Amino acid sequence: MLLTLSRTLLTQSTVFLSSLGPFRAQEVSSSILVLARSAMSSHAPAKSAAKSEKTPAESGAASSKSAAAAASSAGKVRKVEVEKSPNDNRDYRGLVLGNGLKVLLVSDTKTDKSAAALDVHVGHMRDPTELPGLAHFCEHMLFLGTDKYPDENEYGKFLSQHGGGSNAYTSGEHTNYYFDVSPQHLEAAFDRFAQFFLRPLFTESATDREVKAVNSEHEKNVASDNWRLNQLQHHLCDPEHDYKKFGTGNKETLYEIPKGKGIKVREELLKFHSQWYSSNIMALTILGKEPLDDLEKMVTERFTAVENKNVDVPMWEKNPIRNPEETGKMLYVVPVKNLRNLNITFPIHDLQPHYRSSPGHYLGHLIGHEGKGSLLSELKRRGWASSLVGGQKHGARGFGFFIVNLDLSEEGIKHVDEIVSLVFQYMKMLRMSGPQDWVFEECKKICNMQFQFKDKERPQSYVSSCSHDLQYYPMEEALTGSYLLTEWRPELVEEVMDKLVPDNVRIAVIAQEFEDRAKETEPWYGTKYLEEDIPKEKISAWNEVEEAKDILHLPEKNEFIPDDFSLVDKDPEGSVPPHPVIIK
Ligand SMILES: [Zn+2]
Repeated sequence: MLLTLSRTLLTQSTVFLSSLGPFRAQEVSSSILVLARSAMSSHAPAKSAAKSEKTPAESGAASSKSAAAAASSAGKVRKVEVEKSPNDNRDYRGLVLGNGLKVLLVSDTKTDKSAAALDVHVGHMRDPTELPGLAHFCEHMLFLGTDKYPDENEYGKFLSQHGGGSNAYTSGEHTNYYFDVSPQHLEAAFDRFAQFFLRPLFTESATDREVKAVNSEHEKNVASDNWRLNQLQHHLCDPEHDYKKFGTGNKETLYEIPKGKGIKVREELLKFHSQWYSSNIMALTILGKEPLDDLEKMVTERFTAVENKNVDVPMWEKNPIRNPEETGKMLYVVPVKNLRNLNITFPIHDLQPHYRSSPGHYLGHLIGHEGKGSLLSELKRRGWASSLVGGQKHGARGFGFFIVNLDLSEEGIKHVDEIVSLVFQYMKMLRMSGPQDWVFEECKKICNMQFQFKDKERPQSYVSSCSHDLQYYPMEEALTGSYLLTEWRPELVEEVMDKLVPDNVRIAVIAQEFEDRAKETEPWYGTKYLEEDIPKEKISAWNEVEEAKDILHLPEKNEFIPDDFSLVDKDPEGSVPPHPVIIK
């Protein structure tokens, strides 16, 4: 079925830009499995990616400053009730500290691991142009020694001696740090963790060594098609846009080139840290067995001292896929593995602020549907594709994409133009049908059901994702924002649909068959590709496709989606029939 969601995509890009230790390779591949699974299995975890609020002024991100100002003018901690799933037996409390730092406390008396995470709302899209990878490098260096615990290995050693571990990732606009540990050692581990945001050392001696760690991480990524394709898409966008940057970095960008230019990387690192690591763009989540009041004390005692520099969360007004400069292109890419993919991308505006109505979810639900009349069922009937993922993909604050990604068969790769044509036929059918409130109601019920009956999350990944979400949703909605649909906004669906047209498309076809044609090389990963303009006649033909309602139409209504989960009272008379009866 469908959809995709951005949470999934987010996971993917997150991993792309992650850092870290010896398990990185494994982590990347397992996340790719996650991506593939949720792509196949419909409504993945949550409805959409990260995002902000209704009006810019209220938005989680945009409000960092005002939340900070409100909290500090009050001079104390502001406490917030957090809405949770009725079946969630954890206790929650939201806080905004006097310095604007957003905090989610999670008390779980049954947990077998405690955990904490801190998200800084800045990532490698803010790297200085001459130092690609600096934010990621900062993420590596932050872990290595603090005033209070100067030994570089102290943190890792403490965690591994007490049944835990740590990790972190850097994406385009986030740097996210997290750990877990046996519950009785939470406070001691948390004290070590807190020092990274109070007094990190960034020692000179660790600098050279960590450049090597970043470099070997990059070398591992070079073999991965996911990383290669991701960077190629960045490479071919607006050359002036921050989205184009090489976020991981390697020894060339963090050592050799700067050395040649007389740039002192460690000084730049300190500058980056002092500019961006500000409490008003940080969000923290802590999960432990302790009662909420104890967790609150643990946090306020340490994190109230983090400096508030009143930083603005970065924002990009322009989409890195400009129309017409980067649209109307067909890209042929040679993968390392024997893949056959078709990726169709449309630049759209940032849908995150519309998370309550999520037009991207609505459209992803239909485009990714697998039932009768769906795009995928027709493509499978023709033997051209085996899976399809469609939906919004978060870009960064200010811009986004809508994507349709397909796994093609050997036969399918010979019919790319016809497949694209079918995609546009489906889009046309959607436009002609107009937004349907019953479809939204179905999505809403399914999301609600998923939220009510979601599995209990593992502490480490849960605190990491909660700290990320705190950057986008108002505290009250920190747990519901990525799940629930509460507002039907058909005009927003129409607005997005108007962007899903041949004049606003970028297409990539990925297959080893293109080896001979691919004359260009992406500089960081060495990916071979060829980019061509899509001929005007082809665009016109796609513009003029007719609806084909006999094969492509809206799904039938699904009357079996439950929305009442209350238990039925036992009949006191005992008149319940002894055998099942057919009710329909
Ligand atoms: Zn790393």
